[in-house]
Amino acid sequence: MTDGRSVDLPALRIGQGFDVHPWSDDPARPLVLGGVTVPDHAGLVGHSDADVIAHACTDALLGGVGAGDIGQLFPDTDPANAGADSLALLAHAVSVVADAGWVPINVDCTVVLDRPKIAPIREDMERNLSRVVGAPVTIKGKRTEGMPSLGVGPHCWAVALLTAAPRPATDGAPGSSTSTSAGSEPG
Ligand code: MG
Repeated sequence: MTDGRSVDLPALRIGQGFDVHPWSDDPARPLVLGGVTVPDHAGLVGHSDADVIAHACTDALLGGVGAGDIGQLFPDTDPANAGADSLALLAHAVSVVADAGWVPINVDCTVVLDRPKIAPIREDMERNLSRVVGAPVTIKGKRTEGMPSLGVGPHCWAVALLTAAPRPATDGAPGSSTSTSAGSEPG
């Protein structure tokens, strides 16, 4: 609904990312969350290091500039992505955002899991991700509170939201995008 008056809105992009991985029953599988290897806890199943938080952030960046998703850039059918460091995948997404003429303002992420506790590793995760993104990345942990209807008992999932602004005119104009072909999640 409008009253007919024009409104100057800032040029912004919003990107949303979601990811989910099952818990591994292999006690030797390392758990990596936000670039932090968590000791004494079984990891997540995936083709890469299965860093569900980094993956959600990566999809938020790519989605925000219309550049597809993580599975398109890093298919789980590509042996080169086996065991990949997800911070490196995130770094590539940052370059895609820059090439499209946008600059991240912030990324806010929520990860849903009962264990391990997020608080002890939150600062390290935020530091890792913020360094790669070049903007503040915040992480909130939520427990399932024993609700199996959430379907998260055997899984860990995360959502992330990106806000981005145009790069200064001297750096290039926003708006271009990269591949939009279909692909699969690298895991
Ligand atoms: Mg994933």
